[in-house]
Amino acid sequence: MTNTERVRQHIANDSSCMICGVAVEDISHVLRDCMAVRGVWLQLVKTDMVADFFGSSINDWILENLSDTQRFAPCQGDWDLLFGSVLWLAWKRRNAAVFGVASDSQEFLLQQAQRHCREMLLASVRQEQAVASPLVSRAAVKWWRPPSDWIKLNVDGARNTSKGFASCGGLGRDSNGHWRFSFSKKIGTCSVFEAELWAVYEGLSTTWTLGVTKVIVETDNREVYNSLLLREPSRIASSLRCHLAEILSRN
Ligand SMILES: [Zn+2]
Repeated sequence: MTNTERVRQHIANDSSCMICGVAVEDISHVLRDCMAVRGVWLQLVKTDMVADFFGSSINDWILENLSDTQRFAPCQGDWDLLFGSVLWLAWKRRNAAVFGVASDSQEFLLQQAQRHCREMLLASVRQEQAVASPLVSRAAVKWWRPPSDWIKLNVDGARNTSKGFASCGGLGRDSNGHWRFSFSKKIGTCSVFEAELWAVYEGLSTTWTLGVTKVIVETDNREVYNSLLLREPSRIASSLRCHLAEILSRN
């Protein structure tokens, strides 16, 4: 844990950073602001976004970088992977410094992060080839921003395998990747497939209530995709089928 947290828990009395000496070593300092990692970020982030990148709270900072892969990166790519790799390596390097291990250079940390990123992409491609599924792809798990004036709705459904109770939820974001709304709902007893469809319905209901009519729905469930796109209603329970038919007919 960071030195600030150690002091808060009364197991240390010095909250300063052992690398640069700043008085308060909290998590944002370790991962973003410390001179030991700041240079790495400065090499990666768009020059006109540097102030925004270093100016947000730690929670917003992590969420923005993992959900909007184009805001800070100078070119489209796998920013979420690279960002996560740098965080991991910065944390590891800080811990090594605490235990007296000499720090690697920032250039080396950046090269390591880029190598991790390539290895993860390679593993992802191999997995795709192994399952030979056109919908299970890197594109299906990577978030791309919708066009201007549109909302992208990411939905998901889940089912407790022992009790059978299902729930659904989702998140709506605009073309800047900013959060617009989220929702969650307990459904009752149903299949995962139906929980995913309820997620689509609840998400569309929420967007409609907010007056949003330009919506892109994103799901990682191929059955749901086929049912809605190919209009295969027979597998859908009648009550849910009526709800979906009604909301999909709106314009
Ligand atoms: Zn520091």
